[in-house]
Amino acid sequence: MKNYDVIVIGTGCGAIISDEASGRGLKTALIDKGPLVGGTCLNWGCIPSKQLIYPADRIVEIEDSGKLGITAEVKNVDFAAIMKRVRKSRRDSQAHVREALERAENLDFYLSEARFVGDYTLEINGEKLKGEKIFIATGSRPFIPPVKGLENIDYLTNESALELKERPDSLIIIGGGYIAVEYGHFFAAMGTKVTILEMADRLILSEEPEIAELLKKKLSKRMNVRTGAQVGEVKAGKSGVTVVARDKKTGKERRFTAQRIMMAVGRRSNADLLQVENTGVELDERGFIKVNEYMETSRKNIYAVGDANGRQMFTHMANREAAIVVQNVLHGTDIEVDYGAVPHAVYSHPQIASVGLKEEEARKEHEIVVSRTAYYDVAKGEAMMETEGFAKVILEKETDNILGFHIIGPYAPELIQEVVNAMTSGGDINELNEGIHIHPALSELIPTVVNSVGEG
Ligand SMILES: Cc1cc2nc3c(=O)[nH]c(=O)nc-3n(C[C@H](O)[C@H](O)[C@H](O)COP(=O)(O)OP(=O)(O)OC[C@H]3O[C@@H](n4cnc5c(N)ncnc54)[C@H](O)[C@@H]3O)c2cc1C
Repeated sequence: MKNYDVIVIGTGCGAIISDEASGRGLKTALIDKGPLVGGTCLNWGCIPSKQLIYPADRIVEIEDSGKLGITAEVKNVDFAAIMKRVRKSRRDSQAHVREALERAENLDFYLSEARFVGDYTLEINGEKLKGEKIFIATGSRPFIPPVKGLENIDYLTNESALELKERPDSLIIIGGGYIAVEYGHFFAAMGTKVTILEMADRLILSEEPEIAELLKKKLSKRMNVRTGAQVGEVKAGKSGVTVVARDKKTGKERRFTAQRIMMAVGRRSNADLLQVENTGVELDERGFIKVNEYMETSRKNIYAVGDANGRQMFTHMANREAAIVVQNVLHGTDIEVDYGAVPHAVYSHPQIASVGLKEEEARKEHEIVVSRTAYYDVAKGEAMMETEGFAKVILEKETDNILGFHIIGPYAPELIQEVVNAMTSGGDINELNEGIHIHPALSELIPTVVNSVGEG
């Protein structure tokens, strides 16, 4: 049995914790099952997907440039080169991460799957490790629903899609969340005939209904988007894979056939691999690890951060939780993680960004006023001929505090940041009004929508 002051499982946001612990001279173990180190964001999530989406955005812009009086045509898209660049970037970052791990003092790195075998005790490759403080940062993996016939199909996920060397001619994406629409946008721009099958009545349930509606309208110009489509069976045939889906409204069964299918219906916890029950750590009904406001699990001195606790499954939040927990545990502070202004973005085309409450949620707890402004109503939006994108603000009626802010349109993820900062400093709309905004710039959208509240 090896004893450690600190054991961290997972090299995504977990690396923030192991860095700090080993840097402070604590005897630290960092474990990752691999095969790649650095976690989902770096290897299969944010970074590779955005490297794919950047060229996809350029293609769609070129194809849309007719409205600006430009006749342009995309002559060739080198799919293999785009995919190769992503894999090369990943190899380069692997080298950096591994080198940093080797250099670190007071740190033992284990490239092996860990599981709890007793109280505060883990087993890796037959070796037992005991930790005084244990940080679980084991993340999540694709959720694969039990669909008849799926076990016989070589389906893609956000992981295996990155290994593609040839563009599929056609692709059915099962799921309609942000991973599905981002990959739908990418493959459609590459020239793949894409079909998205989503069981719910709209895409991306976490967004405002009118944003989901505009997203569906825009994507539908480039691909087949079916909402309310319940997939019951998949079958391999000569012409590819056939997906049998029932239309929830009409009850009718429809068949869709494509060369490949991709599963993107959500994420599931990795807590099962870790067998956390063997150290008495409790899970919630979805299988994610239960934590309190300090990220502590049901066992003292065992913490769970990032996707492992299933609270806000984004890298920026995983990193924030890790930074706060390590500060509290190693530096004796008492900081609670603040989820009041957690933004997120969807890099589809159009882009989406949101922070805070949606209108329906806000209405349940507050008296609210809501306003929307189109990109076209600010000078830069008009110059861009952006006629459909808009921003929506939800304010508390009495205080004028911002409760929620939602944008669909170009640069939405960049535009939302000043709202996030204002909400983090209390949410007073004057935070947005007092700073002078460059004219003409898309950022004028933010004060414009806030000040249009009450204009009817
Ligand atoms: C396609 C895709 C796109 C995304 N895009 C974005 C985005 O644009 N912006 C954003 O903020 N978020 C995005 N996300 C979400 C983001 O990737 C995650 O929220 C984030 O990576 C979670 O970090 P983490 O440290 O909690 O877990 P991870 O990064 O998943 O790290 C967990 C680590 O634990 C290891 N592990 C698991 N179980 C064990 C075990 N039993 N023993 C040893 N090691 C184990 C794994 O190998 C892994 O390396 C995306 C996700 C996907 C899938």
